Amino acid sequence: MRQLKAVLSIVVTFVFILVPTNSISNAATKTLSVHFINVGQGDSIYIKAPNGEDILIDGGNKDGSDVVAYLKKQRVKDIEIMIATHPDADHIGGLDEVLKAFPVKSVYAPKVGHTSQAYKDFLIAVKNEKLTIKTAQANVTLPIKGVTAKFVGPVKTYSKSDTNDWSAVLRLTYGKNTFLFTGDAEFKAESDMIKAKQPLKADVLKVGHHGAKTSTSTTFLNAVKPKYAVISVGKNSYGHPTKEVLNRLKAAKVTVYRTDQKGTIVFTSNGSTLSVKTERR
Ligand SMILES: [Zn+2]
Repeated sequence: MRQLKAVLSIVVTFVFILVPTNSISNAATKTLSVHFINVGQGDSIYIKAPNGEDILIDGGNKDGSDVVAYLKKQRVKDIEIMIATHPDADHIGGLDEVLKAFPVKSVYAPKVGHTSQAYKDFLIAVKNEKLTIKTAQANVTLPIKGVTAKFVGPVKTYSKSDTNDWSAVLRLTYGKNTFLFTGDAEFKAESDMIKAKQPLKADVLKVGHHGAKTSTSTTFLNAVKPKYAVISVGKNSYGHPTKEVLNRLKAAKVTVYRTDQKGTIVFTSNGSTLSVKTERR
């Protein structure tokens, strides 16, 4: 009996020592990482939440094999949340491949359709996985532990031809660090979010519509006040990113990272400080 008591007290002491130490080291190592994957002209952003959830915003152009390969390299097993910001091919084009390659738990998209083949393929892939699309619109919150993730746009409905302004805009906060992912939202959507008093302030801004001059107004930059901006862009015939947007970012003293220059760009946050790593220098 005495021996048993002695053993028990040792075990109890051990548990008391181990539990707090473990939880401290876990808390210290918990990070959020945001990967702006270089998909050429298009968007694809992979987010690893501090508690392990995997989130994918858009899947690049047409062929999703580059995104699938990147996610496999990051040891992604499943995707808790997939967001299709809007139905344009340079955003949803690769999502059908991602849906085929990984189990996906929920898919969010704005309530606007498209007649393109890329959009049809996306809808078929969603249906094949027996998923129903959840509406991405302002004030919808994502169920991710340890972070605050809320759509701040679209705040209203737009005409079917304005697919960019329908973009699902996600604001994500981990501790002291905030990211704003704007899809291809243009001036109209930007000013509507400001008028609707959505919270927009962020440390990192994913610049809208690959740096097109009809996005990222000075008023919007004043509302977001970013330290860093990421432009997801590749070879294109639209003149993206435009001088106008680069000049507005320069005037606002924002540090700019471009996927066409730096390759894939990864931000890491421990909840208080941000660091950035790029594929190319
Ligand atoms: Zn686009």
